[in-house]
Amino acid sequence: MSETVPMSEGETGVDLLETLNTLTAKALSGQRPTRDEALAVLRSEDDDLMDVIAVAFRVRRFYFAKRVKLNFLVNLKSGLCPEDCFYCSQRRGSGAGILKYSWLGPEEAAAVAATGISGGARRVCLVASGRGPSERDIDRVTAVIGAIKAKHPEVEVCACLGLLSDDQAARLRAAGAYAYNHNLNTAGQRYSEICTTHTYEDRIDTVRRAKHAGLSPCSGIIAGMGERDEDLVEVALALRELTPDSVPVNFLIPFQGTPLSTQWNLTPRHCLRILAMVRFVCPDAEVRLAAGREIHLGSMQPLALYLANSIFLGDYLTSEGQEGHQDLKMIAEAGFTVEGQQSTTPMAAGGAERVVLRQRGAGTGLPPNA
Ligand code: SF4
Repeated sequence: MSETVPMSEGETGVDLLETLNTLTAKALSGQRPTRDEALAVLRSEDDDLMDVIAVAFRVRRFYFAKRVKLNFLVNLKSGLCPEDCFYCSQRRGSGAGILKYSWLGPEEAAAVAATGISGGARRVCLVASGRGPSERDIDRVTAVIGAIKAKHPEVEVCACLGLLSDDQAARLRAAGAYAYNHNLNTAGQRYSEICTTHTYEDRIDTVRRAKHAGLSPCSGIIAGMGERDEDLVEVALALRELTPDSVPVNFLIPFQGTPLSTQWNLTPRHCLRILAMVRFVCPDAEVRLAAGREIHLGSMQPLALYLANSIFLGDYLTSEGQEGHQDLKMIAEAGFTVEGQQSTTPMAAGGAERVVLRQRGAGTGLPPNA
């Protein structure tokens, strides 16, 4: 392990091993880490990555054992949003070739949700584009919640509809919604760099309103939008103050046709450090590995399970994710258990078909596999 982690210019580096031990002790006893301690995780060297993951895994295991909660997204209304969130493929003026449609009906939405539930999802996330819902939109969403809960009373329903009034939050709760998602996305001081049509304070207000109405607060971040490490620490600490029950960690999907389309800033190793940092800052929150995991983590995805205790199953709002059965396979192969199931999903029986006899390359007329 390297001896020190460089901090800001002019500051002395910190001892990483000592800091990781401090972070772990604080996380296990519910204490808030300092900015510098959280920053040290993001500033650690690639050579120290396995040490960071091993230590953060102790925290993850303490609170969530080896369970992985599956969440399933249903995009109730896609595209054509009047807001201008720079990262979003559904923003006004977006040139991304995404699906655009108006509200799904309750039965259609419930049928889509049922697919995710049969795949193992314990939570269904109902999402609609827009600044915030109208009263009629709340009627629509409560009808969807009713249709889902009628067939799957055990499933948690989370709504994600934008800025919310107190009354709307209360109506959603009364209709059976369990949680409300509204991400802080990035540090407050740079919010105007990623959106000009609403503010960071608007977002904080909505998270508070949802919590006040008895909805489980879900609020997270999007990494990879050109922010500094300090900004990621800032937003993680701000989230801790809001005490969300779940914290989705998204990695920017730089959609063509959006202002952030060229922001390919993340490496798989840094994504893992970000997840570890969030785990230390919000140790007992459900840290969810969210959008962008496939394209940014690549073959390192399974390592993220040692840090996050929750993932989205299957597709995202406007882009496709890894196949659902591959998500389940990844969880089983890494030795984790899908929440709500008794044991790790056994590997597919009949291994014989997994052995493919070579029919290309040397000794054949076909080019080799390289
Ligand atoms: S409000 Fe939501 S749907 Fe609209 S642009 Fe922002 S993130 Fe996208």
